[in-house]
Amino acid sequence: MHDVIIIGGGPAGLSAASWCDELGLDTLLLEQAEQTGGQLHRIHNPIDNYLGITAANGQELLQQFAKSLEAAEFDQWTQTCISSVDLRSKKISLQSGEQLQAIAIIIATGVRRRELGIAGEKEFLGKGIIETGAKDRESLAGSDVCIVGGGDAAAENALLLAEVCPTVTLIHRSRKLRARREFAEQLHTNHCITVFPESVVTRILGTERVEAVEIQRKEGIKPFQLAVRGVLIRIGVEPNTDLFGDQVKFDEKGYILVNGEQETSVPFVFAAGDVSNPSSPTISSATGAGATAAKVIALRLNSGARKSV
Ligand SMILES: Cc1cc2nc3c(=O)[nH]c(=O)nc-3n(C[C@H](O)[C@H](O)[C@H](O)COP(=O)(O)OP(=O)(O)OC[C@H]3O[C@@H](n4cnc5c(N)ncnc54)[C@H](O)[C@@H]3O)c2cc1C
Repeated sequence: MHDVIIIGGGPAGLSAASWCDELGLDTLLLEQAEQTGGQLHRIHNPIDNYLGITAANGQELLQQFAKSLEAAEFDQWTQTCISSVDLRSKKISLQSGEQLQAIAIIIATGVRRRELGIAGEKEFLGKGIIETGAKDRESLAGSDVCIVGGGDAAAENALLLAEVCPTVTLIHRSRKLRARREFAEQLHTNHCITVFPESVVTRILGTERVEAVEIQRKEGIKPFQLAVRGVLIRIGVEPNTDLFGDQVKFDEKGYILVNGEQETSVPFVFAAGDVSNPSSPTISSATGAGATAAKVIALRLNSGARKSV
């Protein structure tokens, strides 16, 4: 029996673990990936909005986190697959067969990128379907590319890729771009960028790697093919909550509902970071929420709740 089990080792989970450890709680952090860090592994641009630290990218910030955690004594298990969680009893079963239990659980499972769910999407991942413009633009320099999505991330990446690619085609479903106005204006005045509104990509085609995308435009009768060597899909994110079924309350977008103390609808189950905070998905919000959850749990356990749980 642990005091706290934290599910997810991104900024929220790591911050919660660090605070739990400092507050004397017996803490276990479970991370499904090979390494902790969550979305920090995908940040290839400089981070200059996390107060007190400037980092060239997510990896560099993660190294700073690791330094701060050197003396911490909480247990962390990476590459750990959870098969089921019972939030009421706080029992967790692992795919390895191991059973775990805690007094409190902190859910810090973050978000994942939305997928299009079309043919070629999985097959060509890393073979023309790129992760980010910042990371992959050198490999696509001189090639025609397309970006799927109409938000800030899609627009920002289109502008970045247009610096090195002869043509960038931005394909999005709605009539108007969702991206902020300054991005939208730059997109429309950049001669390398073509925007296809009210359009969807229906297939990604190629043999060894991406060679074309099939596009269906609203006003077009038939889909047509556009030759590209690179595709970037940026159609938003969704919370990682599959594990919890309908055991907690969610908001209308599927994020876990929490109160000001990061507590969910189930007593002694907390949620922190992007999984519960769609309005401010940032590193600072995630680390702050992780700290709040840890402090509230410590306060409750030290004020006698430990005996009654
Ligand atoms: C390209 C990019 C650039 C960004 N730039 C910035 C920036 O400049 N500044 C800023 O403040 N923010 C930035 N962000 C956002 C920031 O990275 C996130 O807000 C932050 O990482 C959220 O932390 P989190 O811990 O809530 O979730 P995540 O970082 O998503 O971590 C969740 C963790 O939980 C794990 N997990 C999920 N499900 C399970 C499970 N079932 N069992 C065990 N583990 C599980 C995941 O593997 C992951 O490690 C950026 C994000 C991206 C993608």
